[in-house]
Amino acid sequence: MKIAILGAGGLGKAAAQIIAQKTQMQLVAVADAGGFVFNPTGIDANELQNVKVGGSVSQMQGGQRSSDAIGEIINLKDEYDGVFLALPNLPNEFIPCVVQRFVEGGFQGALVDALKRTRAMEMIFDLDGLLQDNKCTFLSGCGATPGLLTAAAALAAQSFVKVEKVHIWWGVGIARWDDYKATIREDIAHLPGWDVDSAKALSDAEVEEVLGQSDGKLTLYNMEHADDVMLERAGVCERDQVTVGGVMDTRNAKKPVSTTMTLTGITFDGQRSEHKFILGDETTMAANVCGTALGYLHRAQWLHQRGVYGVFGSAEMMPLTVK
Ligand code: NAD
Repeated sequence: MKIAILGAGGLGKAAAQIIAQKTQMQLVAVADAGGFVFNPTGIDANELQNVKVGGSVSQMQGGQRSSDAIGEIINLKDEYDGVFLALPNLPNEFIPCVVQRFVEGGFQGALVDALKRTRAMEMIFDLDGLLQDNKCTFLSGCGATPGLLTAAAALAAQSFVKVEKVHIWWGVGIARWDDYKATIREDIAHLPGWDVDSAKALSDAEVEEVLGQSDGKLTLYNMEHADDVMLERAGVCERDQVTVGGVMDTRNAKKPVSTTMTLTGITFDGQRSEHKFILGDETTMAANVCGTALGYLHRAQWLHQRGVYGVFGSAEMMPLTVK
């Protein structure tokens, strides 16, 4: 499967490294805000890794500067089968608009995102008809949360006739915030008093100032996370039964808390119980997001090859392992 990655930040680079260790996928195109690189025989993940924060893939061998790198990748649509959107989603409609451009540009293949916000994902779901008409298969919410943990909740629900609640509490540790600028800005947007627009408007220095107020840690409660709408669509529970929060440490690669999904339900014989899904503390955000996204991209291609088109939430599907 030939892959294009949009966004060469923390997640885009990690996805490239994972693909380099697989035989069923080959990375052929990468775009960032400064340009793009395309190589039909494969892009060197090590060279991509060496692009510094603030640099661009356009500086790589064969790279080209462009003010519309996404448009350039769309023009190359016959050169790849799947797209991982590892772009910032500020404002909410950014990724939905990119998806629309791909479809209207004639791409007919598989796409995944690692979207987080409920409202953004609802915009993606609205594109279902357009994607069906144009023979595209899009799986949305294919990161860690939403993504891996949401799918785990859909699986955990099977032991119960009634699901009472799903609670996700995540922990992420990163050594440097600017390796994941979009992720951190989007997390700040969940803090009380902030929203997507005010977080987008922050300069890097201002982000550092916000992080400095709490020793580099962000603790987030009741996040507007699309796990809720995805589990509702998948028939697991109502959206208001889902809560998401967590702790992001931007100054220490060690996880501040273990990431845990807890589903509480009632069994057919009246027992109330909980299933827990706990991620290993050594697994990074990048491992959990990008591994899952690529597994879902493989699933999206599998569906596409069988003529199943349109938009689905990741909780409606299982990822398909990439060898
Ligand atoms: P980042 O800031 O490190 O990188 C973003 C990349 O996108 C950069 O390479 C930038 O140049 C590029 N970009 C920005 N605008 C562009 C444009 N118009 N055209 C082409 N490229 C453009 O981002 P990140 O921290 O890797 O996060 C990427 C996304 O993943 C975010 O939206 C974040 O919310 C999401 N995420 C999801 C989960 C999850 O579990 N679901 C977890 C972490 C991050």
